Amino acid sequence: MGKMTTKDTILYEAHGNLYLNITNRCTAECVFCIKRYSDGVYGYNLRLSKEPSLSEIIKQLSEHELSKYKEVVFTGFGEPLVRLDDVLEITKWLTTRGIRVRLDTIGHAKLLYPERDVASELADSGMKVVSISLNAQDANTYNQLCDPKYIKAYDKMLEFARDVSKAGIDLRFTVVNLPVVDIEKCKKIAKEYCADFKVRGYGGT
Ligand code: SF4
Repeated sequence: MGKMTTKDTILYEAHGNLYLNITNRCTAECVFCIKRYSDGVYGYNLRLSKEPSLSEIIKQLSEHELSKYKEVVFTGFGEPLVRLDDVLEITKWLTTRGIRVRLDTIGHAKLLYPERDVASELADSGMKVVSISLNAQDANTYNQLCDPKYIKAYDKMLEFARDVSKAGIDLRFTVVNLPVVDIEKCKKIAKEYCADFKVRGYGGT
């Protein structure tokens, strides 16, 4: 890995995808979060000195040749859904240009926006895949690992997962391979929810 860039990184490339880092805010404080021990990934500095505006993000996107990427992915050093309205606008902008969009999320949408049907809004914007950090086989382990800002976060995350599938978006669950995580049980939960399942490396959301 080369030297870390010093500039705020909003967009970065890896694995044939283009990743979006639109916020550093989050509704959890995971023990394994890469924010705890690094300033970024793949040599990109993901700490934002300030959040980029919607127009700044669109401007940077329009400077890229987007068709060469497999997907554009909301991820990075924070929870993208804290900026739900901007996520929706950016997804619409990308979808109208024929780009496949994925969202990586901790899944607290129903707690962040109790009055809204976030899954349907995402589906309407054109979101193709929602990858939720399941992270644990039960609420206790989840709370211990993720220290969510909300009570009942685990149950509400699972409810949101159901909403995502019902809205016609492809669902994926991810976990980090840690000793307290029962990978087999998590895989079973994914099966129950008809979700893809992926064990991910340490990283952001
Ligand atoms: S791993 Fe993701 S959900 Fe957890 S604290 Fe970091 S950014 Fe937030």
